[in-house]
Amino acid sequence: MIIGVLREGGTENRVALLPENVAALKKKNLEVLIESDAGTSSCASNEEYLDAGARIQTRGNILRDSDVILKINPPEASDMASGKILVSILNPLVNIKLVQQLAGAGVTAFSLDMVPRSSRAQAVDILSSMATIAGYKAVLVAASKLPNFFPMFMSASGTIRPSRVLILGAGVAGLQALATAKKLGAVVEVFDVRAAVKEEVMSLGGKFIEIEGAREDAAAGGYAVEQTEEFKRKQQELIDEHAKKSNVVICTAQIPGKKAPVLISRETVETMKPGSVIIDMAAGSGGNCELTKKDETIIHKQVRIIGNSNFPSRMPADASKMLGVNFTNFLNLFIGEDGSINLDFEDEILKSTCITHEGEVKNERVAEVIGFENQ
Ligand code: NAD
Repeated sequence: MIIGVLREGGTENRVALLPENVAALKKKNLEVLIESDAGTSSCASNEEYLDAGARIQTRGNILRDSDVILKINPPEASDMASGKILVSILNPLVNIKLVQQLAGAGVTAFSLDMVPRSSRAQAVDILSSMATIAGYKAVLVAASKLPNFFPMFMSASGTIRPSRVLILGAGVAGLQALATAKKLGAVVEVFDVRAAVKEEVMSLGGKFIEIEGAREDAAAGGYAVEQTEEFKRKQQELIDEHAKKSNVVICTAQIPGKKAPVLISRETVETMKPGSVIIDMAAGSGGNCELTKKDETIIHKQVRIIGNSNFPSRMPADASKMLGVNFTNFLNLFIGEDGSINLDFEDEILKSTCITHEGEVKNERVAEVIGFENQ
């Protein structure tokens, strides 16, 4: 059984497996092929992969010889031959054409961004591991761009008040951003539609902004659901009021599979202090700020709006360390101790993440979206 790891390319600095993960896979008698320089940007050299027991190969050889191919960002479907297993992050509810191509090519494609949020799935939950990194990095970027200190300073040259940080969305990224901003000494306020996160916010030293009347759905598995118009209006008023007083706004609000809710309007930005920074982590799904441009930084009336959609790539060594564990744990779900493959689609994690298999779109949510698009 051969596992192949492709180099990512473009602006992506991460890699799906590090040498330490190769060593673990070798114990199962798996062969591991790594594309030359795949780990260089993550501080892992070809020599370290070789020492761990991998073979360095060309992309063509890896695509031809591997049974299972790992790549963080999806490869071209035309590179994938029938019968191969692909483990990647496909964003399949949006990248419908790619899904159809992979199905057409006879590829068994797993997408790790479709992992359910259950206790058992935590070890393969790349959305959580990457959101943790992104929440941390987002705050550091904000602090470095802000023309103010984060902490309070009292000195002979006067007293400097602490910066105020407003975090929208207290999921994995938002809570990590809160913890990081608090460590840097800022005053942090957090808003989320799920009242369940209030205690977590408070335990990390944040102030929870409450609005009554939020809709919650236990069946949504800990995720947010769409809110009523009345709630949205109240929410808008409160966010405007708090954004005006903030130096930094970190946007992380999302409802999975939907366009990100717009919570910061152009008008709100125009009331913010000159020099303020908005980090819109939801840029990849449209942004929580009306003015966000994905993967661009714009300055509007002296407010800097940063729409970086891949902060984890800016911390590639540790991001790859976490991803390597996530990918390895995922492989362990269908590769036995003797190195044989057993695709048990009764397993909730394999079932949720398998997007295409034997020429068909296997994932129900993705098939539904495709059906809807074809109407
Ligand atoms: P999550 O689902 O854990 O958290 C999102 C939070 O937003 C939830 O707590 C939810 O209740 C809240 N929310 C939903 N609608 C809201 C609303 N109208 N107002 C206030 N809160 C609302 O998601 P996560 O893993 O923390 O990721 C957050 C966002 O960050 C996502 O958009 C994700 O794609 C993005 N992300 C960006 C990067 C990057 O590098 N830019 C990296 C990882 C994740």
